[in-house]
Amino acid sequence: MAYQLSISDIIWNVLNNPSLVKKMYFGPDVDSKIKSEYWHGTLWAESLLFGKEQLMISEEIYKCGDFVYYYDYNDNEQKLGRLRAIVLNEGDQYRLRIQKVLDYNDLPGTFKGELRQNRSLSGEVWLQDEPFLTITTSQISEKVAEDTLQITEILYKHHAHWRIRDATLSYQHPSEYVSVMQSPSSTMKVYKLFLDIYYDDFGTFRNVYHSLGGVYVQFGNMPAHQRKLLKNHFVLGFVPFGGNFNEFMLPFVSEMKEFEQGKLMKVNGEDSWVIAGLGVVTADLPQGNDMAGVLRHNANKGCRTCTASRESFTNLYQDIPATSRYHHTTDVQFKEISDEPATTRQNQLCTQYGLRAKPNILDRLLRERHLQTPQDVYHATAGKIGRLLKLTCELFSQEGENEFIKAWKSFKKPKKWPRLPNPISHHASFMMSDYLRLAMIMPFILNSFLKVSSLKENESKIIMQRIDTLRISTVKNAIISCWVHVAKTMRMVFESKFTLDSYDELQKCLREEMIILPKVFPEFANLPNLHINVHLPMHARTYGTLINTQVGIKEMVHRIFKAMVPRTNCKNVELDLLKRYTTLFAIRHLVDRGADQRLSQPCRGFATMQSNFRNLLTNWYITEDKVSNEQELNEDVDVISSPVDFITNIILKRLLSQQDRENIMKNLPNFKSELLLSFVDIGLNSALVYSQMGWYELATYTIEESDGIFSKVHLHIGDIVTIHEENNGECYAIIKGIFKYKGNNGKYYVFITIDWFDDTNRIHNVLKCPLYRIQSIQDMRWRRIFPISIIDRVQKVHFVYDTKSGLWIKNNYYFTAI
Ligand SMILES: [Zn+2]
Repeated sequence: MAYQLSISDIIWNVLNNPSLVKKMYFGPDVDSKIKSEYWHGTLWAESLLFGKEQLMISEEIYKCGDFVYYYDYNDNEQKLGRLRAIVLNEGDQYRLRIQKVLDYNDLPGTFKGELRQNRSLSGEVWLQDEPFLTITTSQISEKVAEDTLQITEILYKHHAHWRIRDATLSYQHPSEYVSVMQSPSSTMKVYKLFLDIYYDDFGTFRNVYHSLGGVYVQFGNMPAHQRKLLKNHFVLGFVPFGGNFNEFMLPFVSEMKEFEQGKLMKVNGEDSWVIAGLGVVTADLPQGNDMAGVLRHNANKGCRTCTASRESFTNLYQDIPATSRYHHTTDVQFKEISDEPATTRQNQLCTQYGLRAKPNILDRLLRERHLQTPQDVYHATAGKIGRLLKLTCELFSQEGENEFIKAWKSFKKPKKWPRLPNPISHHASFMMSDYLRLAMIMPFILNSFLKVSSLKENESKIIMQRIDTLRISTVKNAIISCWVHVAKTMRMVFESKFTLDSYDELQKCLREEMIILPKVFPEFANLPNLHINVHLPMHARTYGTLINTQVGIKEMVHRIFKAMVPRTNCKNVELDLLKRYTTLFAIRHLVDRGADQRLSQPCRGFATMQSNFRNLLTNWYITEDKVSNEQELNEDVDVISSPVDFITNIILKRLLSQQDRENIMKNLPNFKSELLLSFVDIGLNSALVYSQMGWYELATYTIEESDGIFSKVHLHIGDIVTIHEENNGECYAIIKGIFKYKGNNGKYYVFITIDWFDDTNRIHNVLKCPLYRIQSIQDMRWRRIFPISIIDRVQKVHFVYDTKSGLWIKNNYYFTAI
């Protein structure tokens, strides 16, 4: 017995929640330079379920997927192409994405020959794979009549060489399997919803005390920062232990089938046309394979995206388009399996294709099962780091192990981080986020102590052979280099914004990582977690980024529900959890001034509720900035005025001793004149009449970010801050002092004193990170006193002090993972 919430109800509640719906995007794909949202990805652009399916140009309707003639300005001639997508450019104008169609004369010389020439005479043309062109609507000249073109092959590039493959080895354009009904009236508002499903069934990263699967829904129409909010993860239901996912999803699938066609729904009291499609499904590696109908990853053909055999998982020269799995070919294989009456033969076929006996229930919905179940980078990256950690630790000699523990303990980790467990004795208790953090600092820790004697001699010799070196000292650099590549790739994979160039950079990073890891450590050869490197560039382009699926936060949401289990009656856990959830969900809906079908008027009591309570629900959001265990000590009593609107609630804490104050002042020979400049900065020009000041260890304040979210900032002495400088862009400084000073208007303002980081324009040769020097006391080139409003970010960057060189290394691998 399983309980689940109806997806129609969830959709109705979301669309009828005014504060949610105004933040959602329902338009065509946006062809922006910076790709960060689902509607910047190719799936949204091409699928009729999400993007714009047709456009009227010169009184003719052009549909996505149509073959067209367009005018090419470069060659001054009419050309044939396929309309892949109708997109908006950044100026809100329609643009058409065109796939080139070549005739015989356009083919590279190696592919010319009598056979193809004869076929071309009977009307055959060739499709060219990416890159696609973007043209204006005025370049379109006419449609090509349906079924007049013969296409059997696709021209594409593999490692900079042209190749030709069979046209069936390609993802079908969604127009070939999706059709949506037009709304009953042309004036009716249309909402197209992109659904993102997450299934958490407890993988490797948790302690199981009560097994419970969760299915969660998100709306890809919300911008990424909204989807991060815990309250915007919607629960579909909980799958009890031993429950069957396919069975559980049955009601969801049947409701969704209606939405795929378009469904009439009242939105804000008006009849509207609602279309919803399954955009993406994520789960841990094994469950993700189930959802694509592919055998688990330890099978011989255990990749859900391609048919590479286990022995060639990390083969660099894999021709991905030619070996990928495609929905339509898998369909044929599934049919072959189900048509086979003998069980033994059926099992043989399953092994041969790497497929399960039956497709997943989600295949009843309109989707490309292999493209739309991307491998999850959170799980994969954490798994990869875990393995590298284990292998590295196994190389340590006793001396090396002791040095590592010492270096680990004394390493100054970023302040905002929770305490990380000891990676040698406690790595079993590491969570995904712990592994990601470990990888950000591991290159620096190893670099600080690793030497020849830290490694077991025999093992070092084996690595020497593998990397083909005669010098044993090269081994340590090879190990650090593995960590550098893993950290660098992780940073790229978790990038929240991409450009076309950075997609290429991502691909390069992933490839380099796939070269170095198996070279140094044979255990990485043919590892499924490393194999996915060949597919990640495609997933990034399909969904805009690789982290749009937000699995890190989804795992956290699931953990929250899991934590509630002991507080239920433990008899009917699923029902109990759902009841709690729906109560919260209902309150949230009413607080957001949402309507309720059962009430004739909005629920005033909730809508006019005190703002504190509203905040409680608004901040239903996890970020590291929200966590604070500061003790309220020596709080300053004077009210501090803010020089700018976006900073409020400034509070100073922990008064400094006279000795500390004097030490800071000693390094500020130009105190008076720089303070005066700082007052000018905040718009108070006249000379200082007062001289009342106080020095503190810590300041806290609230900052309103551009997206309207409020964050609390904790600023400590010793913190590294980011400052945006007009001429030099992003600059860094370390906080040396925090003080308040009374202005000539009688109000107190807060100022900081800093030392700047000076870029040496050099790169650390092993760690591949930039080196900085800190501004010395004698160096008077730059001012040291500023109002706090100059600070852009606190602790957004991480610097590591290098005792050997006396320089600071900027940790380019540091980022906020979850
Ligand atoms: Zn694969």
